[in-house]
Formats: sequence, C-alpha cells, structure tokens
Amino acid sequence: MEQYSTCANCDKRVCESEFSDQGPDNCPTKTMHSTLEEVRTEYAKPDVAEFARQASIQEFECYMRLPEGLTPRNPRVEETAQFAKKMGYKRLGVAFCAGLRKEAGILDEILTRRGFEVVSVCCQVGGMPKETIGITEEQKIKGSGKWETMCNPIAQAKILNESHTEFNVLVGLCVGHDSLFFKYAEAPTTVLIAKDRVFGHNPAAGLYLSHSYYRKLRRKETLPSDT
Ligand code: SF4
Repeated sequence: MEQYSTCANCDKRVCESEFSDQGPDNCPTKTMHSTLEEVRTEYAKPDVAEFARQASIQEFECYMRLPEGLTPRNPRVEETAQFAKKMGYKRLGVAFCAGLRKEAGILDEILTRRGFEVVSVCCQVGGMPKETIGITEEQKIKGSGKWETMCNPIAQAKILNESHTEFNVLVGLCVGHDSLFFKYAEAPTTVLIAKDRVFGHNPAAGLYLSHSYYRKLRRKETLPSDT
C-alpha cells in the first residue's frame, strides 16, 4: 500500500527541531520533497508571505513572557480582531448559524466597536426549503409536513463575496455546511465557533472525554464501502 503520512501517531516529531530529516520512513518531511518545494514557492508570493508572517506574529503575541513561564493571553475573538487589524482589513464577513444568532450579534458588536465594517449573513438566507436539496419529510428536524428552511452556506459565501469582505469569520456552521462555505468563499476565512451541540461548541471536549464518559466515541466500525 502507498505510504501515507501519519503525523498524528508519530513519536519522533523531529520536524519540530533542526533534525527534520530524521523522521520515520513515511515522514512527509522526508518523502515529499517536491511538494515542499512547491510550498516554498507559494510562501514566496508577496500576499501569501505577508499573510503567513502576520499570522505568525499574531501567534507570538498570544503569549506573555512572565517570570513564572510562558502564559497565553488572548481569547480567540481578541486574536481574530488583532489579526484582521494587522492585515489592514476594514470589512469583515460573519457567516453564522441561525442557532447562534445571539453570539453573532455579540461578535458584530465587538468587531464594530473595534473599528471594522461587519457584513453578517445568516445560514437561513434565501429562505429555500430543504426539499431543494432532496431532504424528505422524514428527514426534517421539526417533523414531517413542516416547513424547514435549508442551511445555505453557498449563498452566505456568495453574498460575502459580493460584499467584498476581506476576511470572514464563521460562527457555528454545521459540519459540511462549513465545508461548502470554505469552498465558495473568496476571502480567507477563520472559524470563531465550531458547532458542537453537545459540548457547548467546544468539540475538543469530545476528545478529552473519549477515554472516560464518552468512551463510545472510540468504538470500532467499518466503512459502508468495506462491507
Ligand atoms: S513530519 Fe515527520 S517527524 Fe514530523 S510529525 Fe510528521 S512524521 Fe513525525
């Protein structure tokens, strides 16, 4: 079988050091030289170089060097505003889930107070029924026979594109809907809130609990294509 990258299970992690050529046999730092050369070319493009540089400066500024040790200081919403300011952006897009309307309103207020123009678009925009994408009566959350508006991340992306937003912030879009937004959005996009209906929009909690109360997340299954 073709060797593919398994960094998540690597116990060498030499890429974090100056000995990055001493990884395991399937280490992409060792095996994917031509791709990494292409990547260098990308970073050499002035706009990409500046974006990457400012992102790393933002990362650096998220820590305080206190006598007791390195200490983080910026909540993600602060980081988002600071990064957008570093990049010189004026107009920001907020694509939000209707279920997180309140959070989107708070974010709009914060960003506006920080000097940005905020264009916000709700996932229900366009008011298209779920039948448009083939959802059946049995697959409606509110129940059979009820009107249900589909989430419309393509419309969210296109409206923000036409509004010439320079940077977009996602607030609680569902898994898959967020993917469509990324696919159609023209401006770079960051995620402020990743929806998690169980863990208060903190998906990492599922990982932290997967060896205790949410052990069921680790159950073994096969893919439909394997059966
Ligand atoms: S890049 Fe190589 S050394 Fe780094 S984590 Fe992946 S496999 Fe390990």
